[in-house]
Amino acid sequence: MQPALPFVFLFGTIIGSLLNALVYRLRQGITLWGRSQCPSCKENIHPAHLVPVLSYFFLGGKCASCGKRIHFSYPLVEFLGGIVWLIAFWHQPEMVGFVLEAFFFTYLLFVAAFDARWKLLPIEPMAGMALIGLIIQFFDGDLVSSALGLVLGAGFLGLQYLVSRGKWMGLGDLWLGASIGAWLGWQGTAVALYLCYLGGGLVAVLVLGLGHWKKGQRVAFAPFLALGAIGSVLFGSVIYAWFAGAVGLA
Ligand SMILES: [Zn+2]
Repeated sequence: MQPALPFVFLFGTIIGSLLNALVYRLRQGITLWGRSQCPSCKENIHPAHLVPVLSYFFLGGKCASCGKRIHFSYPLVEFLGGIVWLIAFWHQPEMVGFVLEAFFFTYLLFVAAFDARWKLLPIEPMAGMALIGLIIQFFDGDLVSSALGLVLGAGFLGLQYLVSRGKWMGLGDLWLGASIGAWLGWQGTAVALYLCYLGGGLVAVLVLGLGHWKKGQRVAFAPFLALGAIGSVLFGSVIYAWFAGAVGLA
């Protein structure tokens, strides 16, 4: 085992912890600076209780001052932060590639957590990420693929927005598709959408089958798109080659 792995994981959980604060504070319009507080009693959280993942279990999932339950998304996002940083570290041996990929995964975790928690998406960070994706691809020499990916991601989800008249997904998903598209290029985006619908379809069948569906309830779509995008980053070239072979492109 590489000696750096535990540190990469630990760093990822700290990033996940910051994402939790960002998900909460962006929605509530609270300043991003200042001490962490309990959402219920507004008491400052003791630094010893801010250890990612572990504190939640140490505190029995409850606030130390008021005893209110802490949302399970907190330790989950922290843990997933560690996992995606480990994956990026394993997947990208070079420093620049590693940092960029970890940054992209962190963004995906952020939008997935935001959507899962609030059932909506913040437009500004997604528009910013679309722009950053275009800029990176410009310097990487693949601006055309990046722009096509942006159009494909936004267009594909925008079409469903139009067809369903905003019932299946919101305009936020369109921006998310655009940002993922700009980062992945058009082939990567096609694979991400394919994986997203594969995973989303399976879950939809399960949820419908179990009867947990409330009529008119919007499903948080971002976690599926995020998983599709990560799958595309890791296995995209293999899946695309298979796909292209199957339809006679290659
Ligand atoms: Zn409290």
